[in-house]
Amino acid sequence: MEYKKILKRKKLKITPKRIAIINYFLKKDKYATPFDVWIYLKKNFKKIGLPTIYRNLEEFEKIGILTKIKGEENRFYYGICKMLNKKHHHHIICTSCHKISDFELCNFEQIKGEIEEMTNFEIKEHQFFLKGICKDCKEGGVNEKI
Ligand SMILES: [Zn+2]
Ligand SMILES: [Zn+2]
Ligand SMILES: [Zn+2]
Repeated sequence: MEYKKILKRKKLKITPKRIAIINYFLKKDKYATPFDVWIYLKKNFKKIGLPTIYRNLEEFEKIGILTKIKGEENRFYYGICKMLNKKHHHHIICTSCHKISDFELCNFEQIKGEIEEMTNFEIKEHQFFLKGICKDCKEGGVNEKI
């Protein structure tokens, strides 16, 4: 599992809880709140607390396994990254079924200079994600996996 290699490389211990969190996101293939993850993990790890979930999700975000998403009602969600920081890329989410996808196309470099001129800032990095409706939802399909 490629995700295990990343944990190792980033010096995070490979624990059953961490693997369960990654598997949850892989299986579900949707973005989720820390609370959703907690409810799921409690089935197997009875004593797990919500703060543990928060901490792990934050760590995973730092190493690029998960990405943080501001979704409905400005709530924060996490979604799994399938490109694993191999290349510069962005994420697109479906606001209907909460699916998350990666895409590599980015033309920020083309407008960077103009924005720097406009703001007098030197831009060091950029982040964005796109919201939309996926093909399945457009066609009216239901694809609940968990
Ligand atoms: Zn990604
Ligand atoms: Zn959808
Ligand atoms: Zn970009």
